[in-house]
Amino acid sequence: MSGPRVRIAPSPTGFMHVGTARTALFNWLFSHQSGGVFILRIEDTDAERNRDEWREGIIAGLHWLGLDFDEGPFLQSDLLPDHVVAAEALFANGYLYPCDCTREEIDERTKGNAKPGYDGHCRDRHVARTDQTALRFRVPDEGTTVVHDVIRGDITFAHDSYEDFIVVRSNGVVLYPLANAVDDRTMKITHIIRGEDLLPTTPKQVMMWEALNHCPEVESVDHPKYAHLPMLVNEQRKKLSKRKDPVAVESYRDQGYLPEAFVNYLALLGWSPRGEEEIVPRSTLIEQFRLEDVSHSPAFFDVKKLTHMNGEYIRALSLEQFIEAATPWVAPWSSEWTPSDRDVPWTREQFDPSLFSHVAHLVQERVATLGEIPAMVSFFFLDDVPFDDVTFEKAIAQDGTAKNVLTLALDAFATVEWSADALHHSTLQLGESLGLALRKSQAPIRCAITGTSVGPPLFESMELLGREVVLERLRGALARAGA
Ligand code: GLU
Ligand code: ZN
Repeated sequence: MSGPRVRIAPSPTGFMHVGTARTALFNWLFSHQSGGVFILRIEDTDAERNRDEWREGIIAGLHWLGLDFDEGPFLQSDLLPDHVVAAEALFANGYLYPCDCTREEIDERTKGNAKPGYDGHCRDRHVARTDQTALRFRVPDEGTTVVHDVIRGDITFAHDSYEDFIVVRSNGVVLYPLANAVDDRTMKITHIIRGEDLLPTTPKQVMMWEALNHCPEVESVDHPKYAHLPMLVNEQRKKLSKRKDPVAVESYRDQGYLPEAFVNYLALLGWSPRGEEEIVPRSTLIEQFRLEDVSHSPAFFDVKKLTHMNGEYIRALSLEQFIEAATPWVAPWSSEWTPSDRDVPWTREQFDPSLFSHVAHLVQERVATLGEIPAMVSFFFLDDVPFDDVTFEKAIAQDGTAKNVLTLALDAFATVEWSADALHHSTLQLGESLGLALRKSQAPIRCAITGTSVGPPLFESMELLGREVVLERLRGALARAGA
């Protein structure tokens, strides 16, 4: 027996959603652990809402995450003839019937009905098929349809809660539930792994799949297995909102999340590795992932946890890997890919790659995303110290002893041996002569040199900047403070 065939079938109606990425990952893991095939099918039939750049965005997102597909991308719009063939077969075999009711007529007739939706008015009226009639599916009056779900077990849907739904509009358009099922049949999909939000349509698809298998002119295809993945929710336990929550995969890439960290985090949304450790390499995910172990409960998409995890991944890089990963953010001109809308604070001439390679280990320990790097190291490359006004006021302008510290430092640093240790010792001493703890004596110096109160270790940074620059900045800060 050959391996399973799975697919993702996103509609390109917006930026690639983290939910799509999670679905892609689970499909990818499942196919990779069992010698299966992972297919990308773009469901692009809603011409008004689709955009080419969103389709490209999905492909780029999968590529960034290393979730490459084995077949595709197929475009649903290229498969329209198959949908029509299937609809005609269903019609010819009596599973669909024409309906000429208008929305208003239906509303008028059904208001007050216990069961919402269409009332089956045209079922046995033998309405002639014209360009004014839709085709509806004849849902059996009684009985149930069972969806076999690997995660949720068998889910039973009673037929009497389903209306005779429209399959083909009067304008000839075959609607999504059939189009989607027909493509899954054509592509011989064995497992449909997708979001829980699609579960309400699944029984309709199972009914039509079954009906198609009874149409003599259509090749019978085994029913696929289903796996509906738990919903992703925000901190308020509400479904992630496209407008309010940060859901675009692209924005995580642009902020400098590492694809491996992102994949690892996505894997935890509804599933967890066997041991205590949540940080596990992709090979372990492939080995341990089991569709049956996926949870039913909504999964909290926790950006804080993702960010923390990303920091761990950044720290685990070798220095060389870190410098390479940081390049699009610090030296976009030497990188093929660059994050969108991100301005580097320095010019190409101001940036010194060799200095950055010396500074890199100082920041690697301190950033959670690559996008944080430029602000943290800009003082190394900018001619003017990038002062944060609030910090300057607090650490220097409004601080009684700060100017004394800077004056003493100017004097001491002019002759001190130029090493981080000696600078550290010298700062400690000049602080003591003023009765200050190191924390207090270091603060104005840090502000004078870096412009802010946080950043890489101060003495190492000063060592790298060199005596001349440090003395100049101390003088500059004193002048700025009007001393
Ligand atoms: N194109 C649909 C969607 O994105 C269907 C997905 C599917 O069946 O996996 O919601
Ligand atoms: Zn009707």
